[in-house]
Amino acid sequence: MPYPEYLIIGAGTIGCSLAYQLSVQGKSVTVLEDRDTAFGAAGASGSLVGRWGYDEGPVGDFVGASIDYAPQLVEELQEDVGWKTETDYLQVISNDVEMKIAEILLKKYVYGKVRASIVDITEARKYEPAVSAELPGAILIPDMNYFDPIKLAFAFRRRAAEHGAVFINEAGVTELIMRGGTCVGARTRKGDHYAGAVVLCAGSWSAGIAKTAGLELPVKPFRSEMMVTEPTGPLINGEIGSCTLKAVWYFPELITDERVLKYKLSFAIEQTDTGTCIIHGSREDAGFNVIPSPSVLELLLKTGYRIVPALRDLRIIRSFCGLRPVSEDNLPYMGAAPSVPGLFLCTGHGASGITMSAVTGKAMAEYLICGKARITDISAFDPSRIGKAGGM
Ligand SMILES: Cc1cc2nc3c(=O)[nH]c(=O)nc-3n(C[C@H](O)[C@H](O)[C@H](O)COP(=O)(O)OP(=O)(O)OC[C@H]3O[C@@H](n4cnc5c(N)ncnc54)[C@H](O)[C@@H]3O)c2cc1C
Repeated sequence: MPYPEYLIIGAGTIGCSLAYQLSVQGKSVTVLEDRDTAFGAAGASGSLVGRWGYDEGPVGDFVGASIDYAPQLVEELQEDVGWKTETDYLQVISNDVEMKIAEILLKKYVYGKVRASIVDITEARKYEPAVSAELPGAILIPDMNYFDPIKLAFAFRRRAAEHGAVFINEAGVTELIMRGGTCVGARTRKGDHYAGAVVLCAGSWSAGIAKTAGLELPVKPFRSEMMVTEPTGPLINGEIGSCTLKAVWYFPELITDERVLKYKLSFAIEQTDTGTCIIHGSREDAGFNVIPSPSVLELLLKTGYRIVPALRDLRIIRSFCGLRPVSEDNLPYMGAAPSVPGLFLCTGHGASGITMSAVTGKAMAEYLICGKARITDISAFDPSRIGKAGGM
């Protein structure tokens, strides 16, 4: 059998998006996946797709291009991917310190071209009646978009398969195959696979694979603790978050609770179509340890009870951890791997891989096929910057 033109490692949202775009362009693609689609970050992800929090410049432009392309992509994918647009998103303000934080954040959001305002609690509860009436207010972001991360990953995969892409589950890559200094394939538990080019899309696991070709790739997992409630009637319309989400990164000096800083703790709750609520809001540099920590879950729940009191009546039926693939400078790597001919990187999308997934697959496919992304500029994500950003 002839080798495929492209071997993609990892069938998360990013790998599946790329497989879709390459196969639509008539390219032959094989995707090697350690477990199954959406078993990585996609299966533990929030669903926000928005410009918020990005300054103007290459990242803001890239995110903007992804959001602009999303409606067309939804048409192309021809199945329900949970796409919702111009939906309200609240970042709740819990006290006077958070009100100060919210005022600073608002300036940053507006500067980043995000429509946002601070509303009092009566107004906030018109959008999300489940928010406690005892709190001062919220930042209202009325233009938020949403994808269902699992449905999206599977839609990419199904359309890619229809265009001839081959997906092999339980084929974890143990090492990259090098010949004469060039990466020509990947070794897996199910045998060796060769291709014209190898694209690393293995999210948090990318660094371990790159290392087998001698490349020190600064991508590491940031874990998030998740809880799922029993199903309930309609409770949450969009996503309810906390204004501490961005503050723990941008203004740590304003946060007085050490545990909040340690776990980069905020709060987020969304409700699925089946009625379960998904709660998350921590970010921790804890390696690949995915055993939930009772103390973090307790902190999250305490915050949750304060913000959405109805949560007290719901049982938690499941908890687990998700791993965000975070790069050294918080930007993804998209392009040729430095000093490893034949290997390409498309990884490190951090906290925004769902937001960026639409344009990532398209831009990376264009880059691989034509040598240049046309839909938007990806030069800011050139992996040649590896090692120059100053440590993780
Ligand atoms: C709690 C949480 C909330 C989030 N909320 C949002 C949000 O609201 N909006 C947003 O835009 N983003 C959000 N994200 C981030 C987003 O989910 C990620 O950026 C995105 O899913 C990363 O996709 P990926 O395909 O790169 O990685 P993954 O989905 O992790 O995929 C990597 C794949 O590689 C596979 N793999 C691993 N090792 C190997 C191997 N050796 N061989 C072959 N395959 C391998 C894995 O099994 C996995 O399937 C959130 C993430 C988390 C954890």
